[in-house]
Amino acid sequence: FDQLEGLIWMDGEFVKWADARVHVLTHGLHYASAVFEGERAYDGEIFKLTEHTERLHESARLLGFQIPYSVAQLGDACRKLLEEQGLHDAYVRPIAWRGSDQMGVSAQNSRIHCAIAAWPWPAYFDPAQKFKGLRLDIAEYRRPDPLTAPSKAKAAGLYMICTISRHAAEAKGYADAMMLDWRGQVAEATSANIFFVKDGRLHTPKADCFLDGITRRTVIDLARARGLDVEERAIMPDELEGFEQCFLTGTAAEVAPVAEIGPYRFEVGDITSTLTDDYLNTVKPTKAIAAE
Ligand code: PMP
Repeated sequence: FDQLEGLIWMDGEFVKWADARVHVLTHGLHYASAVFEGERAYDGEIFKLTEHTERLHESARLLGFQIPYSVAQLGDACRKLLEEQGLHDAYVRPIAWRGSDQMGVSAQNSRIHCAIAAWPWPAYFDPAQKFKGLRLDIAEYRRPDPLTAPSKAKAAGLYMICTISRHAAEAKGYADAMMLDWRGQVAEATSANIFFVKDGRLHTPKADCFLDGITRRTVIDLARARGLDVEERAIMPDELEGFEQCFLTGTAAEVAPVAEIGPYRFEVGDITSTLTDDYLNTVKPTKAIAAE
């Protein structure tokens, strides 16, 4: 990343990539007082930009701070950044955090900073693995109870267990890990939501202690538009035995088929392929129209 040229939007202005730095006493670094977003631009347009920016504001609210830029201002900054960077298809990463003005857990008066970076990130998972279906481990850490952490926030602190879990899975040769929640129910992967298919119906865990992904909601709508039933419910890990297909959804991952979770096996089937295509046609409207 150090080598990337171009600009980063930081606290209201564009700065050179290499100059977008923070102080070592940044509160966000010590105490995880940071929230962020992950967005994707397709053909120069960021998919569901307003929803992402509103979620960023809401995440900050849940952590007790207010981002000093409105949803409209941040949206404009994302779009201008893409233009400045000459990017059409890119990943966009806005982040907001408490600065270095105060050390200690209490930092009521620290300045709230905000930055946006964008870079090309065509494949989140290795394309060959994605084609065959991803292999997932089952993580040891569990998604916390909503009374233990603000589980609806896309907050840096909640990613500590995700990075540990993903690294542990990668060390064993897996692409990612499926995480259970504090009750032992299936929750999600380390940066994407999870769906299962059985007898033509979709099953996905109720998003009551993890991020209700924007991709998740989009795919639920696409499936219902196809006349498929989608059940949001508690799923116990031993039910995985009976599911035929499985896939992940996320802004970075898009729709990614899963072939394996621990001892359980799935086929990369028709419903997964249909929803993968429907999703890509939704996020890339101009290409879809051009292809018709
Ligand atoms: N869960 C986690 C932990 C994530 O990091 C993400 C990616 N933002 C998702 C789910 C999927 O969310 P979205 O579809 O909004 O990208």
